[in-house]
Amino acid sequence: GVVVGKRVKSRRKWKRVMGVLRELEEGCETTVGRLRQVVDAMAVEMHAGLASEGGSKLKMLLTYVDNLPSGNEKGTYYALDLGGTNFRVLRVQLGGGQGSSILDKDVERQAIPQHLMTGSSEDLFDFIASSLQQFVEKEGNGSTPSFVRRELGFTFSFPVKQLSVSSGLLIKWTKGFAIEDVVGKEVGECLQNALIRKGLDMRVAALVNDTVGTLALGHYHDVDTVAAVIIGTGTNACYLERTDAIIKCQGLLTSSGGMVVNMEWGNFWSSHLPRTSYDIDLDANSPNPNDQGFEKMISGMYLGDIVRRVVLRMSQESDIFGPASPRLSMPFILRTPLMAAMHEDDSPELTEVARILKDVLEISDVPLKVRKLIVRICDVVTRRAARLAAAGIVGILKKIGRDGSGGITSGRSRSDIKMRRTVVAIEGGLYTSYTIFREYLHEALTEILGEDIAQHVILKVTEDGSGTGAALLAASHS
Ligand code: BGC
Ligand code: MG
Repeated sequence: GVVVGKRVKSRRKWKRVMGVLRELEEGCETTVGRLRQVVDAMAVEMHAGLASEGGSKLKMLLTYVDNLPSGNEKGTYYALDLGGTNFRVLRVQLGGGQGSSILDKDVERQAIPQHLMTGSSEDLFDFIASSLQQFVEKEGNGSTPSFVRRELGFTFSFPVKQLSVSSGLLIKWTKGFAIEDVVGKEVGECLQNALIRKGLDMRVAALVNDTVGTLALGHYHDVDTVAAVIIGTGTNACYLERTDAIIKCQGLLTSSGGMVVNMEWGNFWSSHLPRTSYDIDLDANSPNPNDQGFEKMISGMYLGDIVRRVVLRMSQESDIFGPASPRLSMPFILRTPLMAAMHEDDSPELTEVARILKDVLEISDVPLKVRKLIVRICDVVTRRAARLAAAGIVGILKKIGRDGSGGITSGRSRSDIKMRRTVVAIEGGLYTSYTIFREYLHEALTEILGEDIAQHVILKVTEDGSGTGAALLAASHS
């Protein structure tokens, strides 16, 4: 009697857990039909954001970058890269002349101390300036002599209303940064003042979004590069637009006839996006509710926390994870790299899953079946993220006529269309370090575009592109 009763009970609780999983899977469904709707919505919102200020949740910000680095840039330039998990200081030595040549590059990386992300404006900018000062002081003899003023590119990866290529106002913070007194301020000036406080003779020659830096470096190496995407702590994209398509800025004239537009696609929203109750709760509990909806389904800051929320829900429905762990209720405790490590655990016993469950969530001794369930949850959440990112990319291609649809006329098949080689520069830990994510993204791109078109679309990783690109832009704008 007792044994049978136990078994019935265990079958019931497993059934409830499977119900939660099925509901998650249905909620996260990204059929190719739905992805195409997302593609269309993205292209429509791009038009709307270009048509008028505030015309869309996509801000479609002007960058004043109208010429991408040509390869003739020469000399030593510096860059600061702020806005993700890591903060970087770079020095880049450009050869000029024979096309793109980066003679030397020095990069220093450090994690941004958590307290600076929510502290005061002065503390943040003083920290940045100090790091730069230490970096410069370590320079050996023979580099920039002290009487030469150094030119600096500042990669600031948040939405900025640019006033020029080297100045702009912070519109809002994202990705867990929250320093109220910087909102509305001119960010280039904040940095410039901190440099002056430190007595550093450096000039902020370019203030750029990380996507724009990435596009600059991508284009420097490969002139077919037309867009750049970041999928890291946050997510965003920029691309080269014709000035006459930027309707909200009538009379905008550039020598190239084009300008890079920072889409801020993290804030994209469409009713076609597959949204679950976990997304709704995550958003409601975030410091920026109703903001960055696309980003919250895709980027590294959030994926681990979606998984945590699903596991929490299952643990409330049943005791398959043993006694309730208070850790499961702690927001952001399951960071995305840990989630990826569990997802990519290919040991037969899923020992990495067991280890992370134990060390991070304080859940011990779960049977293999339950560990497999964890992997399944990671898979559902990551697959949706990667496929939505792919749809976003195709949205851009559609907007600029590179998705292969524009050329279809009666009697011609898709494969007859001459498709130009199209390169998208890409950066961010989710894409570069999470293999399954990357594979899902590629798979979805091919599904949406079809093989014939997809083979002309190349995603190219640019290492430290956002920083190096800012140095390049400092060079071409100084
Ligand atoms: C920011 C963008 C940035 C992206 C990737 C988003 O949260 O709003 O400006 O490009 O993260 O770093
Ligand atoms: Mg970054």
